[in-house]
Amino acid sequence: KTPLLEVRNLQKRFLTGKGWLQQPTCVHAVNGVNLTVTEGETLGIVGESGCGKSTLGRCILRLIEPTEGEIVFQGRDIRPFKKADMHQVRRNMQMVFQNPFDTLNPKLTIKSILTEPLIAHGIPKELRQALIEDTMELVGLSKKQLARYAHEFSGGQRQRIGIARALMLRPKLIIADEPVSALDVSIQSQILNLLQDLQEQLSLTYLFISHDLSVVEHIADRVAVMYLGEVIELANKEDLFAKPLHPYAQSLLSAVPVSDPDEKRERILLKGDLPSPSNPPSGCKFHPRCWACMDICKTTAPALQEVEGRLVACHLYERNG
Ligand code: SF4
Ligand code: MG
Repeated sequence: KTPLLEVRNLQKRFLTGKGWLQQPTCVHAVNGVNLTVTEGETLGIVGESGCGKSTLGRCILRLIEPTEGEIVFQGRDIRPFKKADMHQVRRNMQMVFQNPFDTLNPKLTIKSILTEPLIAHGIPKELRQALIEDTMELVGLSKKQLARYAHEFSGGQRQRIGIARALMLRPKLIIADEPVSALDVSIQSQILNLLQDLQEQLSLTYLFISHDLSVVEHIADRVAVMYLGEVIELANKEDLFAKPLHPYAQSLLSAVPVSDPDEKRERILLKGDLPSPSNPPSGCKFHPRCWACMDICKTTAPALQEVEGRLVACHLYERNG
């Protein structure tokens, strides 16, 4: 299958200064991420908050500018693209946010909100109404609701509107950043099922960012686990959930409740807190919290390499290590 998106050595560094006269510190939020997203698949990105997964998603859409690397979308590196070319790219690459209410203009009716992207991309007037009505139907809303305002809708309905807006131009790739995290659990599965239905009907590809592993288990085909700006394991969902290899992935997964009561999963508690991304540990960034830490881990960063049909960055799995 063809890759729709290839991210190569993506880096995002920024400077933060805590206060007046303080030395700014450099935060390496995304540190050399490589990913391929195949047409029609859902790639889940998981990790604790602060691991760089949202920054990664925003860098791919260039809502924030990466410091280094390539973003090859539909065969072209879009990182050097100027405004007009990026505008065209956004027809095919859209974002769904965690809290759609923050991004839905309260002064506009739903119809105006959905019309905006059509105007911005020069869709002729006579086509707009049908597109809007079709999209409302796709996301499970009625066209009777078009005259209403965002605040008149429930959280789940607002996310449907957020999804509708992202779909107006029938994009190929949707980057969804915690799209169900703000919703009640019962509503979460409705929205996840909706996203899956839409994926099938519209041949969509998803990059699905979440801190919630059960959500990712529900929706993803493959999963990349991030820690302090780096991908530490990338595997098929089944392989990862059956047997995570990286110690950090093992600890994350040990916290996911199992549905089968006969299956016992030992909870692995990590020592220490997530280190600051502005002052990451030497060697393997996970070493101060890792129970399997060896001498080499303190000095040498493990490379992401193929192990048992997946990618893992850990010295435990190095062949001659
Ligand atoms: Fe633990 Fe070493 Fe593997 Fe890092 S490289 S996860 S410290 S065993
Ligand atoms: Mg986030």
